Amino acid sequence: MLTAEIIAVGSELLTPFRTDTNSLWLTDKLNGVGIEVKLKTIVGDDDARLEETIRDALKRSGVVVLTGGLGPTEDDITRKIAARALGRRLSLDEKVLEEIRAKFLHWGRKMPEINARQAMVVEGAEVLPNPNGTAPGMYVEHDSRVVVLLPGPPREMKPMFESHVLAKLSERAGQVRVARRVLRVAGMGESAVDERIAPVYTQYKNPQTTILFNNTEIEIHLTAQGKTEQEAELLLDGLAGQIEERLGDAIFAFRGETMEEVVGLRLAVGGFTLAVAESCTGGLVAHRLTEIPGSSNYFMEGVVTYSNEAKTRLVGVPAELIERHGAVSAEVAEAMAEGVKRRAATDFGLSVTGVAGPGGGTIEKPVGLVYISLADDAHTEHRRLMLPGDRHLIRWRASQAALDLLRRRLI
Ligand code: AMP
Ligand code: MG
Repeated sequence: MLTAEIIAVGSELLTPFRTDTNSLWLTDKLNGVGIEVKLKTIVGDDDARLEETIRDALKRSGVVVLTGGLGPTEDDITRKIAARALGRRLSLDEKVLEEIRAKFLHWGRKMPEINARQAMVVEGAEVLPNPNGTAPGMYVEHDSRVVVLLPGPPREMKPMFESHVLAKLSERAGQVRVARRVLRVAGMGESAVDERIAPVYTQYKNPQTTILFNNTEIEIHLTAQGKTEQEAELLLDGLAGQIEERLGDAIFAFRGETMEEVVGLRLAVGGFTLAVAESCTGGLVAHRLTEIPGSSNYFMEGVVTYSNEAKTRLVGVPAELIERHGAVSAEVAEAMAEGVKRRAATDFGLSVTGVAGPGGGTIEKPVGLVYISLADDAHTEHRRLMLPGDRHLIRWRASQAALDLLRRRLI
């Protein structure tokens, strides 16, 4: 497989004030034509370091893409240093110079002499036109490598890459198509997931598997290459199927869907209705569900019963139940779920009560203790969770667990 690396040039990119976003965009485009990006470097406007970086890049990567440093000023060194690293001459291209002059003329200005630098072209390079700026790019085939020089400003770099570079690189990459899939897992930690599925995915180089933790859930990223999109998709189907055999219901999404999307779809398909009573999540479950267009078909109401008194008054939790077991208890969680279901006359009632912290924890009821409960006509169940993390994460994880409890009931 053709591999690439990206070198972002510019001292400003090494400060906290400017971020190298070009390489993110480029990586996406390169991946799209089946070229894997193996390395990214950010180099300041420094002759020696840039030269060394380009020389190293040429030793290991089939495609080297540089962005930035094509401006007209003294600190824009990419042209000069790229030529030096490639052992090629840099010379003035009269045609390019005329084009730059013409651009300034068109803007009603005289070309400052320093802009003539932008007409310096690496020997043997194909010049890439820049309709959005003055600095042309360059495409150089060198031994079996390709070196591409692109301007730094994204509005110049992107159209240039898309119009003049992508097709060439795609052809060079051959008939490789890349397909991706994101599987999302609820209720399991990263190492538990890995323990179960490593025996499967380590057998394959294609698809490639990455497991990562994203906010509240574990994601399994699969990337496959094939001669056609269908072939790549088929490879993904195969591995995703084997992973599903090992993780079962813990996988809630096969195409990167969110938990609320999945739950919403299941409610809609089943024609069920839902009401929610929340304490420690303060409406987060309701918020997430109602982010989904069309949720009014199944989501009837949400009540934030934060105080004990509200739990009694709004969803009919007996005061003596709260007195006896505490607001954070299985009994109160179940009474909240049943109460909100009764009140809203829905098929399901879902509830959350817990200690989000950072204060308010005790030895019996520490920060992170959360009860969730789900009631339907036939029965009521609850789960006791000990959730790690800060207040934000505990609340988010509690909402995720509550939605997941409902999802599993709907399977
Ligand atoms: P240059 O081609 O070095 O003159 O870059 C001009 C401007 O382009 C910089 O001041 C940045 O605002 C922007 N730029 C350069 N490199 C990048 C990059 N890697 N990602 C995003 N913006 C960039
Ligand atoms: Mg620069």
